[in-house]
Amino acid sequence: MQMKVTRALILQRGMRNCCPNCGGEPLFRPGKPFVLHRECPGCGLKLEREEGFFLGAMALNYGVTCFGFLLPTALLWYAGVLSDALAIGLALAGALLVPVALYRSARSWQLMLYYFFLPEHLPANRPATDESGDQNG
Ligand SMILES: [Zn+2]
Repeated sequence: MQMKVTRALILQRGMRNCCPNCGGEPLFRPGKPFVLHRECPGCGLKLEREEGFFLGAMALNYGVTCFGFLLPTALLWYAGVLSDALAIGLALAGALLVPVALYRSARSWQLMLYYFFLPEHLPANRPATDESGDQNG
């Protein structure tokens, strides 16, 4: 089956914090940078899929913070590149600030990963004959 929205397009849209279905932006409410729209303003795709769906974004955020920031900091300290005080300061600041900085991206990456593995769940990829009325399930 030919899909209108390919996996490459889903990755591209996810990295740009855009809707995986229509490519519209932003995913977040204007003036409220940490509040995700319940549904895409452009196409109506349900962004808050179900209760607890945000937990995947938390895991992504935690993983990137640990392996992308804290582990390199610890390795640089261990190699003697960073002093004790600098490493502790960087680790504390990074543990607090990196998750905040990645919050929006992590929410987008979670949607991206979900639809990357299940692209047929995107309404744009459904066959035109599907008239079940459920465009998000
Ligand atoms: Zn959309």
